[in-house]
Amino acid sequence: MTDNANDGRSLALRDASLAFGDVTVLDGASVDLRTGAFTAVVGPNGSGKTTLLELLAGLRPLDAGTVTRPAASGRLVAYLPQTPGFRSGFSACETLEFYADLVDGDTDPDSLLAEVGLADAAQRGVDELSGGMIRLLGIAVALVGDPPVVVLDEPTSGLDPDVADHIFDVVEGLAGDGRLVVTASHDLAAIEARADRALFLSNGEFVLDGAPEQILETTGAESLRAAFAATARAEAGAVARPGGGR
Ligand code: ADP
Repeated sequence: MTDNANDGRSLALRDASLAFGDVTVLDGASVDLRTGAFTAVVGPNGSGKTTLLELLAGLRPLDAGTVTRPAASGRLVAYLPQTPGFRSGFSACETLEFYADLVDGDTDPDSLLAEVGLADAAQRGVDELSGGMIRLLGIAVALVGDPPVVVLDEPTSGLDPDVADHIFDVVEGLAGDGRLVVTASHDLAAIEARADRALFLSNGEFVLDGAPEQILETTGAESLRAAFAATARAEAGAVARPGGGR
């Protein structure tokens, strides 16, 4: 695996392969993500979304192929796991201060809390925060050091629709500010309405890739949910057929 600087605006995989034993997660997959856009990765459970995000974030290496990342000084990638955990006994603000001390540069915890809509919760202990607030604090922590790439694993899973809506507002805002934002998500209605690009990961490849409206046009489906379901059925058929053509 090679990590190269590129034109400074791209997070790209080329011919990327990764397997855990005989479980293939990526099979010669290529994709080029640009800054200033919100990309959502979708796929069946176990299709490799979390693993893909981890390797985009530089948390694990590829078996073969290359990953290139945007050029940046300082912290490059923010990563929010599905279930962020914070040290008990600290307030939201103290938590941010703790992480801010670990990176170079000035971080204003209050402005980060305001950016995610937690200004009023600055002095609340992390143990008193709701599940949605914990995710928002996780996003604020991820933004410490102002990294140009933000990778979020299922940032709205298990949350009420109103809270999920707010989190997607924040996520869209991060891309609007020129960052490269990638999330895994099962919330296909939100992705259809909000993402600039959707990638459907199945059997180690990006079998659908495009703006939601492009995917609807090419597949003739009425919704992303229908487009992905039809593609998943076709993929399952291709794999099940003897020889499979794959
Ligand atoms: P998703 O996020 O789409 O549910 P994951 O990336 O978590 O998928 O997992 C993809 C596949 O890789 C699954 O079959 C999973 O069981 C397997 N897997 C993930 N991490 C490991 C690991 N550390 N060791 C072995 N297998 C793994």
